[in-house]
Amino acid sequence: MRFPLALTLKIAKHITRNRLKGTSKFAMVLQLEPLHTCNLTCTGCGRIREYSTSLKDLVPLEQCLAAAAECDAPMVSICGGEPLIYPKIEELVAGLRAQGRILYICTNGVFMRKKMREHLAATYGPAVEPTVARLLSEGLITEKEAEQIRNPDEAARKKVTLGPTKWMYWNVHVDGLEYTHDLIVEREGVFKECVLAIRMAKIIGYQVATNTTVYKETNPAELEQMFQFLSSLQVDGHTISPGYDYDAAKKDMVKRLGRDPKDFFLTRDLVREKFKDIRRWGEQFTLFGTPVYLEFLAGRRELPCSAWAIPTYNVRGWKAPCYVMTEGHYGSYQEVLTKVDWEKYGTKDGVALNPKCENCMMHSGYEPSGALSTKLGDTWVNMKFNFGSKPRPYPASPELTKAAYNGATIGKGHLAEAKAAVNRELSGAKSAYQRNGDDHTHDHSGGGDSCGSSPERDALLAKVRDAKSAEVKAR
Ligand code: SF4
Repeated sequence: MRFPLALTLKIAKHITRNRLKGTSKFAMVLQLEPLHTCNLTCTGCGRIREYSTSLKDLVPLEQCLAAAAECDAPMVSICGGEPLIYPKIEELVAGLRAQGRILYICTNGVFMRKKMREHLAATYGPAVEPTVARLLSEGLITEKEAEQIRNPDEAARKKVTLGPTKWMYWNVHVDGLEYTHDLIVEREGVFKECVLAIRMAKIIGYQVATNTTVYKETNPAELEQMFQFLSSLQVDGHTISPGYDYDAAKKDMVKRLGRDPKDFFLTRDLVREKFKDIRRWGEQFTLFGTPVYLEFLAGRRELPCSAWAIPTYNVRGWKAPCYVMTEGHYGSYQEVLTKVDWEKYGTKDGVALNPKCENCMMHSGYEPSGALSTKLGDTWVNMKFNFGSKPRPYPASPELTKAAYNGATIGKGHLAEAKAAVNRELSGAKSAYQRNGDDHTHDHSGGGDSCGSSPERDALLAKVRDAKSAEVKAR
């Protein structure tokens, strides 16, 4: 089975119960954003921009738990912001588990190893020692960290921690191989850290999923290689979705990077082009989407939007109408269901009912439509897909590893070089982008990259230069 039986049964029971009650709209997954603070500034992220004035605000623990109880979604995706920064993340997970919910902790991976070390320290004993020894031998913890795990103080022993359970997945954000991922998250080394965290999690016994957003620049061949690599790390499943044309991210891109948003986001036709091989990927890799949604992404069918099934709760309340678009915040999930005019959103027979929905094929709107379809054929296809055998992990190989680490690891990082170039420029020295005595100004719009540069890196270079100039002026 692709998804564990107990979890599948829980979701099936929830759907059946609501159908028997005659409830037409109900929550399947709660997107819970206890905070919007993040340690990264990913290029396409709408949250850190839309909620830039409330980045320091937190949803109190009790309010998070009450929101989950009110909408009663069987699955909760704890996102943000970076949820591992939330000061009561452990208590939040414990509270949601006490409510019996399936949990996804959507993380950029940077603090995962710290959280797992805390768990090992709190539970350390003879049974844990072989795991600690293995992590040490595989370079996933240092000698000093191993000693801290072996000799926890009173506070470390008593700490509530995030331990492995079949009801919880780490859901690690990975948008490509090393070069691409680090470029999108705007920091070198993040891909490498994600891989270390995934390897450590699998050794300890956690379930690990990954989530990938596909942008206009995403290369499908690279995505396939990324799935091969992640599968070889024994990742349990993958979610994948096209990106969305966030108003806030779009404005930010124009302002900070001088980019035309049309260069960055996807139209429906482009989504279909990028996802044309998704059914084959679904057979080769453990994709978590329903085959009905995958067919929709590949352009083989239309679906209505069911954004009400994946509500979002955050520092301002219940965000509506959906995870990606904000037209208001409400005081309760019931208000969202009754006050939002759902006829105004999504698509009908492929025609957008709202201009902001025109290019949206996001999982947060359409995935539930696949899962909740009442057509007999769809139910059969979904069941066959989920109850069928799970694809085998892709065989690990030195070639695959070498292909994955195609950025900072082999000295082809973008930010370090960009920063060095800016520092040189500001100090009057020759830029690292001036090669053979010429300014590095030629055009890469045709996609050529023979000199090792790219439009993305140039954009980042411009951004770093702006930031540095502002810094220098402020001195
Ligand atoms: S189609 Fe997309 S943008 Fe429109 S309501 Fe649905 S999820 Fe939101």
